Amino acid sequence: MRKQSERFGTTLHTETIQKVDLSSRPFKFWAEFDDTEHTADALIIATGASARRLNLPGEEKYWQNGISACAVCDGAVPIFRNKPLVVIGGGDSAAEEAMFLTKYGSHVTVLVRKDHLRASKTMARRLLANKKVTVRFNTVGGEVTGDDKGLMSHMVVKNAVTGEEENIEANGLFYAVGHDPATALVKGQLDTDAEGYIVTKPGTSYTNVEGVFAAGDVQDKRYRQAITSAGSGCMAALEAEKFISEMEDERETGPLDGTEADQARKGDNTVVPEYRTNPLL
Ligand code: NAP
Repeated sequence: MRKQSERFGTTLHTETIQKVDLSSRPFKFWAEFDDTEHTADALIIATGASARRLNLPGEEKYWQNGISACAVCDGAVPIFRNKPLVVIGGGDSAAEEAMFLTKYGSHVTVLVRKDHLRASKTMARRLLANKKVTVRFNTVGGEVTGDDKGLMSHMVVKNAVTGEEENIEANGLFYAVGHDPATALVKGQLDTDAEGYIVTKPGTSYTNVEGVFAAGDVQDKRYRQAITSAGSGCMAALEAEKFISEMEDERETGPLDGTEADQARKGDNTVVPEYRTNPLL
């Protein structure tokens, strides 16, 4: 991907950005440990989201050796084939991941810390009806231990009400306890939803600030896959490129006149923008 983008003229800078100012264009941004002000006519925010971890005892040792935060990414790995697996969480992700894992594991136990699932009714019903799944309510995870090959083999589960502990056989542990979108950089500057994800106009990468686009997991709490992120990155690149080209046109020929095409550029009507400036079209 890197090589391909360089072939098309992209210059890549590896920097940590400490601050952005989206209050006016050109947008301003500053790199870490450097007070130099940089500017950009358009910005694509693609800072991602990180899966929450629980920091259970043994987690460091067995991370990626049995413990994962993405069943869809790691579930098919041979170490989980026909083995007992555990999912922690009670939301839609936990339900979806547990059902996905039944394709690979011998049995899947879901640990839910409360006495009810947070997942939608349909997902909850499907999960509870699945014969390869056991849902243990009022239950939390404890220490993870492993075998002499360095792979996870057991974990402690604890009844949150009685405090009773049990060491169960488990060769995989999947966290599904939510994600944290990395939006600290744009907090208060872009519209975000109740969980902190950047809000984009459906079917586009437009944010509420003209010229700022969002792509990948920072605006997607549903699919969260490398391929869907790459796809939305491509959409954002096309839209940012179009935005800049039209800004340049506007500089040369005066302001646009508010026609449907102009509104489509701004993302404020339902007309699908035509990518006139894409060299492939
Ligand atoms: P979520 O809805 O926030 O659920 C997180 C779950 O993890 C909750 O059950 C929570 O328990 C539990 N949890 C959090 N911290 C915990 C801890 N320290 N120990 C034990 N359990 C803990 O997150 P999500 O399931 O990732 O879903 C995020 C959003 O994406 C939701 O809006 C969801 O509907 C959506 N989504 C939709 C689909 C779909 O439609 N197919 C699939 C996946 C996700 P409590 O309930 O006790 O707080």
